[in-house]
Amino acid sequence: MQNLHSAGRNKKSNHRHGVIAHLMLLFLAIAYYTYLQISEGQEGPLSFLVLGLFILVPLERLMPRHAQRILRRGLHVDLLHAVLTGLLAYLPVMLVFPFLEPIRSQPLAASIAELPVISQIALAFLAQEFLIYWGHRFSHEIPILWRFHSVHHSSEKLDWLAGERRHPVDGALMAFFVGIPLLFLGFDLIDLLWLGVFNSLWDMTIHANLRWRLRFMKGLWVTTEYHHWHHVADKEIRNRNYAGALPVFDWLFGTYYLPKDKLPEGYGIDTPMPNSYLGQLTQPFRLVDRR
Ligand SMILES: [Zn+2]
Ligand SMILES: [Zn+2]
Repeated sequence: MQNLHSAGRNKKSNHRHGVIAHLMLLFLAIAYYTYLQISEGQEGPLSFLVLGLFILVPLERLMPRHAQRILRRGLHVDLLHAVLTGLLAYLPVMLVFPFLEPIRSQPLAASIAELPVISQIALAFLAQEFLIYWGHRFSHEIPILWRFHSVHHSSEKLDWLAGERRHPVDGALMAFFVGIPLLFLGFDLIDLLWLGVFNSLWDMTIHANLRWRLRFMKGLWVTTEYHHWHHVADKEIRNRNYAGALPVFDWLFGTYYLPKDKLPEGYGIDTPMPNSYLGQLTQPFRLVDRR
């Protein structure tokens, strides 16, 4: 009995030490990010966090889909993902992309530049959505890619911050998969960056714990309910709804799923995933069958 008590105490104190270590790491990451933003005068992921905190968190209190605490278990780990994983994922992208300028097709770039700005954005958006659909689908269907993408799917509670949980390799591969063809087609990197900002904002919303069904957007735009289905543990359902914003690609390629009479629940994966940030970063490299 005595041993049981002390084992329980040890477990609690280990958990407390883990949380403190994460918070210290988080503090360092935020300090580093703030330094980067101030020195480069850019708006970065921290502004998304602020937006999430002031818009999505109050909305989650008003209309939650699932009864769950705002300060849930693992929130600090997802916060760390939001701040640090973005940087880890985009470092290789920032390093490689400037060298890719020569692959840009000049004739295509010239004909795109002749189009009205609104058509350029619409075209870039459509091309980007098509690439996101296939990049995302491959990350589910190719086992080595699923190892990394399963980190994103390991959240058992979805909320405004859960979608930030992502392995940097998953993030970087997706950025290359989407960015390189768009660059080749002649789109401007700055325009693509704006699309990325818009994507990140909506991405946070579709993971939030919100019960709105937004039926008027059904089939036209990816909603919270639509993406929550993509996060259920059932593999048959999880391998659907790959679209980032336009469900038309799911519909075209046979992976559209939005039942009228059921609501999504039971999120996560059926293989183990460590609770710690470093554990989640190293998990894809462990030699186990992750399918
Ligand atoms: Zn997925
Ligand atoms: Zn997701």
